[in-house]
Order: sequence, then C-alpha cells, then structure tokens
Amino acid sequence: MAIKTSKEYVESLRELQIKAYVGGSKIDCVVDHPAIAPHINTVAKTYELAHMPEHEEVMTARSHLTGDKIHRYTHIFQNNEDLVKKIQMLRLLGQVTGTCFQRCVGLDALNAMYATSYDADQAHGGNYHERFINYLKMIQEKDLMLAGAMTDPKGHRSRRPLEQEDPDQYVRVVERREDGVVIRGAKLHNTGGINSHEILVLPGTGLRDDEKDYAIACAIPADAEGVLFIFGRQSNDSRKMEGCGVDLGNPRFGVVGGEALVVFEDVFVPHARIFLNGEVEQCATMVNNFATWHRANYGGCKAGNADVLIGATAKTTQILGTDRNSVVRDKLTEMVHLTETNYGTAIASSAQGYKLPCGSQMVNPMLANVTKQNITRSVYSVGRLAHDLAGGYLATMPSEESFNNPEIAKYVEKYHVANPEYTAEDRVKMGRYIENMTSVTTMVEAMHGAGSPQAQRIVMLGQSELAEKIKMAEEVIDGTNDAEGIALRKL
Ligand SMILES: Cc1cc2nc3c(=O)[nH]c(=O)nc-3n(C[C@H](O)[C@H](O)[C@H](O)COP(=O)(O)OP(=O)(O)OC[C@H]3O[C@@H](n4cnc5c(N)ncnc54)[C@H](O)[C@@H]3O)c2cc1C
Repeated sequence: MAIKTSKEYVESLRELQIKAYVGGSKIDCVVDHPAIAPHINTVAKTYELAHMPEHEEVMTARSHLTGDKIHRYTHIFQNNEDLVKKIQMLRLLGQVTGTCFQRCVGLDALNAMYATSYDADQAHGGNYHERFINYLKMIQEKDLMLAGAMTDPKGHRSRRPLEQEDPDQYVRVVERREDGVVIRGAKLHNTGGINSHEILVLPGTGLRDDEKDYAIACAIPADAEGVLFIFGRQSNDSRKMEGCGVDLGNPRFGVVGGEALVVFEDVFVPHARIFLNGEVEQCATMVNNFATWHRANYGGCKAGNADVLIGATAKTTQILGTDRNSVVRDKLTEMVHLTETNYGTAIASSAQGYKLPCGSQMVNPMLANVTKQNITRSVYSVGRLAHDLAGGYLATMPSEESFNNPEIAKYVEKYHVANPEYTAEDRVKMGRYIENMTSVTTMVEAMHGAGSPQAQRIVMLGQSELAEKIKMAEEVIDGTNDAEGIALRKL
C-alpha cells in the first residue's frame, strides 16, 4: 500500500475497536467524538502534506529496507540529512497546525527499538532485530500511526520498581507463555495513542538484574484485548464543544497531543511483537536513544508552533494599533530570536549526528539536550512576550454568548474595538488563540515532554568533558607552545 491519504487514515481508525473513555464515559468510536476530532484532524495533516509535491522532500523518505517511498514518520534515520529533514518536517507541521501533531514519540520509539534490538542481539545472540525488521516492514507498508509509551506512573519517585508498594507502577511481564508474554501496568501522558494504530511500549528507565520482568519492549495494536485509554483534559478543551464562535482558541486542531492514560490489563503479546524481554543491560540504552532523538525534535515543532503564535501576536498588535511602535517591534524580534535559536540548535544537533552500531544515525546528544533545556525556558519566555504585547483582555474578555445577546452585544463590540480597521471579533479570536496556546497545557508540555529539565542537565554534565576543559584552561594559561619571534613576555 502507498502512503495513506488523510481520508484513509480516518477510515482506518474506524475499523479499530479502540476502548476509550472520555470525560469519564466509554465512547463508541474515537472518530465520532468531538473531544478527539481536533486531534485526529491534526494527525490527518501529517498524512495530507505527504501527498503535496512541494512538501514531498521533507514529508517522505526511501525505506532503507525496501527502497519504497514511505512516510518520514515510519523511517529509520540513515544519515544527518534524514535527521535535518525530520526537524524541517516538524517545523512545517507546527506551522500548519499550531500544535502538537503526535507522531514524533512513535517515530523515535521506532528508531530506538531498531537500534536497541540490534544491540541486544549482538550481546545475547537472539533474533529481536530480525523480528523488528519484519514488524517495521509491515508498518512502512501499511503506513500506520504509532504512539510511544515509555513513561510509567512510577509511584514513589525515590523507589525502584521492585520497591513500590504496588508492583504495577511500572509495566511488567506477569506471565511467560510458549507463544509470548502477558503484560500488566500502565503508561501515562500517552500522546496520540487514542487515535493511533499501534502502541510501542518501551521500558521507562534503566533496570537492574533483579528487575528483568520490567525489561519489556513490544508493539501492541491500539485495540488489542486488555488495552484501554482514559483521555486527559486540556486547558479550555470543552470550549470546542460549546459552539463554533470566537472562543475556540485553536479551533480545528488540538492543544498538545490528546494525551491519555493507557492501561494494559493483562495484555497478551506474541513473540513476533516482542523486541526486548528481560535484557536489563539494554534498557538504559533504549531509554537514552529514544530521549536523545526526541529532545532534538522540540527545536523543530516548537519553532513551528511559535511561528503561529508570533503571527497571532503580531496581528494583535495591528488590531491594537501598536504595531509601528519600535519597542513593540523589538519584543516581536525577541520572540523570533528565541524561536530561531531553538531551531538552529535542533538543526545543529542533527547536522552533527553519528552512526550507531546498527547503522542508523543518532543526533549529537549535547546539542539535542541543550535544545530541549532551552525549550523548557523559551516557550515560557515567548508566551510571556505574547501576553505582554496582547494586553489584559486575554484574561478578561467576555464569552462568545456576549456577542450573540442583542442587549449587550453593542457594548461588547464597541468597547473591544481598538484600531477601527478591525472588529471586536477579530481581536477576541486572536486573543483566544493566544490564551489557548500559552496555557498550562502547552507550557507543561514544553517543560516535561521528552523528560523534565533535570534529565537534560544530567546528560549535559555527562557530555561536558569537564576534565578536557580543565586541560584546555591549563594549556591556555600555562602553555609554552607559542609562536617564535614575537615580543611575548616570559611567564
Ligand atoms: C503533554 C505531554 C505529552 C507527553 N507525551 C508522552 C508520550 O507520548 N509518551 C511517553 O512515554 N511520555 C510522554 N510524556 C511524559 C514525559 O516524558 C514525562 O512527563 C517526563 O518524563 C516527566 O515525568 P513525570 O511527568 O512523571 O514527572 P515526575 O516524575 O512526576 O517529575 C516531577 C518532578 O520531580 C523530579 N523528580 C522525579 N523523580 C525524582 C527523584 N527520584 N528525585 C528527585 N527529583 C525527582 C523531576 O525532575 C521533576 O522536576 C508526555 C508528557 C507531557 C507533559
């Protein structure tokens, strides 16, 4: 099959029997639920753009397994060019949707499983990698959407999996059968799983010898027996169900990725879908590989999202009549500067990648972690500037109904018009977008997605080669290897 169209993606979801709860109630079909529709519409764009000749270069790739043209979201990174194109794809999709388009966790999990199944076979002589390649061919052929499930509930944060009062706080194998294993547990914050075809389950942490039952990496159909999704809430999400007027924020797309708690209630996984099973030595590498690729992404997707936010803010300054003011223009420049800095670091981490033993390409870890660390700050800084430039109406503007009530509509219109070239509705629509896309949900995603800030600091320190830097300082300060024939003072 060729790359799916957006219509085929939506139709393929209808064929699945995904067990999902939204607002506490079980729903019949994810496609027909208004809370999930904006998220499906967002993913549909990832399929749609792959068919547009002007975006083919970044949205598609050649499978290194078959040579077929495939969606970049099912590709194994082969070289730096692939890594750079991924970041370009993320910026493009961020610009088109203004939000999270959900498929990056699955892509990076796919790459992490490819690399680590190879490592495990090299260390233990198994056939995980061959199994994984068969699975990958199927994914590329059917052009499926993958969600990545790594983050365990974790229980008491200072205790290891086996030390928890409840052993299910980390996903684990509860039964080993001749034909496969049975897993139990849950993963939190699962982006896009509710509207995916497949869930890639990875260990959530490095593990010790006695924690073999937790060392499980596998692929599970989203509608497999025993899998259920409990949909999360996002800032202002129910506004999309209230009406179709000015209050919707990001009207057609989601706010971040439609996250859910995904529960695995004794789910059977056949051998063909297991890519790590008890090999604790490879768990930390799998987590690390995934996180490193994933952290670089944020410089792409958040730059695309910021482009839209900067646009909404710049438009708001026109509506206010402040757009010609030099201080206002300087604040917009600062928003651009922060955004391009993040994009630049993500591109740099991709341009300086290196080969893994399996032959795929890893980004530069230091620069990937720097990218994500900067994101945990600059998304807030960019949002702060948007709030500054837009003004207090962001927090106080009246609701959509006020525009529809003839008794008060005239006042709402009259006193919310700023530059008379624009209506009050123009202003409120932009304001609601800024409010929606700089809310707690989007900020927290920037803070914790791909790991909390401390996780990046640990890697940055590890990668910093402080001993080498000390030698550099000593050489510069105490060195004697200087050019001859100049009047340099003797030290
Ligand atoms: C919008 C969104 C989407 C996401 N999508 C996905 C997804 O698709 N798939 C997926 O697998 N994950 C996903 N994540 C999860 C993300 O990777 C985690 O949020 C992140 O790793 C942090 O884990 P946590 O939320 O459990 O934070 P917590 O572990 O609760 O951390 C809270 C704070 O406690 C600190 N802390 C934690 N443990 C310790 C300790 N032992 N000692 C001292 N301090 C500690 C942390 O540094 C942090 O400051 C998503 C998250 C968000 C917000």
